[in-house]
Amino acid sequence: MQTIDSLNFSGKRALIRVDFNVPLNENFDVTDNTRIKAAIPTLKKILNDGGSIVLMSHLGRPKGGPENKFSLKHIVNEVNKLLGTNVSFADDCISENAFAQSSSLKAGEILLLENLRFYKEEEKGDETFAQKLSKHGDVYVNDAFGTAHRAHASTAVIAKFFKPGSKCLGYVMAGEVASINKVLNDTQKPFTAIIGGAKVSDKILIIEQLMNKADTILIGGGMAFTFVKAMGGSIGKSLCEEDRLETARELLNKAKSKGVNLFIPSDAIIADNFSNDAKTNEVNIETIPDGWMGLDIGRKTIEQFGEVIKNSKTILWNGPMGVFEMSNFEKGTKQIAFDIVEATKNGAYSLIGGGDSVAAINKYALANKVSYVSTGGGALLEYIEQGSLPGVKAIEG
Ligand code: AMP
Repeated sequence: MQTIDSLNFSGKRALIRVDFNVPLNENFDVTDNTRIKAAIPTLKKILNDGGSIVLMSHLGRPKGGPENKFSLKHIVNEVNKLLGTNVSFADDCISENAFAQSSSLKAGEILLLENLRFYKEEEKGDETFAQKLSKHGDVYVNDAFGTAHRAHASTAVIAKFFKPGSKCLGYVMAGEVASINKVLNDTQKPFTAIIGGAKVSDKILIIEQLMNKADTILIGGGMAFTFVKAMGGSIGKSLCEEDRLETARELLNKAKSKGVNLFIPSDAIIADNFSNDAKTNEVNIETIPDGWMGLDIGRKTIEQFGEVIKNSKTILWNGPMGVFEMSNFEKGTKQIAFDIVEATKNGAYSLIGGGDSVAAINKYALANKVSYVSTGGGALLEYIEQGSLPGVKAIEG
């Protein structure tokens, strides 16, 4: 796989697809600059080599035309602050003016193009649009992992307009790909996957794929109750996807036939309503009374899951064990996070990915105590489900 370290950008114009889809407040200030920060090493490498840079990204979900609230001009100051330079801005990504600006860039200069999704051609993966965009650079760098599972014009289609040796992955993408490879292909055994979150339906494909790789799969969160009901348990008014009961049974059978340990929680913290102030109790997960709902895993499960995690050499965690946003139902998620940290200290490789487990690991300030925290939830899941991503394949092709 061609990565940025194998190229020298001296005298070259790098066209970089970054993920600057950052949250803005009502004054259009950036409220979380994590994604911009993540791109800085890639930008610095190119500048240090003596190259110039054209940045392209999307922001939000515009309806297919310019909208002030989705303009990337709002983030120019933040990029300047983080990079310590003056970034110029093109108020359209394919206008004559934009091409005049990009073609006059000198070494060390950076141009940010306006939101790609102001053209509906971007999400359609339109070839003519991709070809136009390709004129902004001599080398194409894809560093937008968050959108690498989309075959959009700027994330995948554009790569065909650059020769091999003139396209590569940036540091963010290369780091993500290396981390997934370490978990899925270069796996130290035993490998434990921890899958939680709200819905079984979102996680069926990933569970199926992981059955080909993992020794143990721990199921937690709201999705566990569909499995419990499928096995004949009483779950009260806990989350349940009635139309997935058969799927849950199939997954349980498949695990058995493949010799994979698929563990469902044995106990739960239950509440009489979905609130931090609700009355609570701790019960066997198969005997939740009517009118009560399970909102976290119980102490027995925490201990069982913890033992498995601490004896693992490779760990993948996607999705919280309970409603960790509420202090009375965060214990399971929090303890699992600390167990992963302990396993990592003892030499395990741990990859945390998917929006809410990343939010959890950040809530407990443990991000730098695990091996890798993925920056792209959907992209990570799809990579595991499909074995690659359009954005990665495009660079290989
Ligand atoms: P997902 O986006 O599918 O990973 O789901 C994450 C969300 O699931 C979080 O906001 C959790 O609060 C929620 N969640 C986890 N466990 C439960 C549960 N037992 N009941 C309801 N929601 C839950």
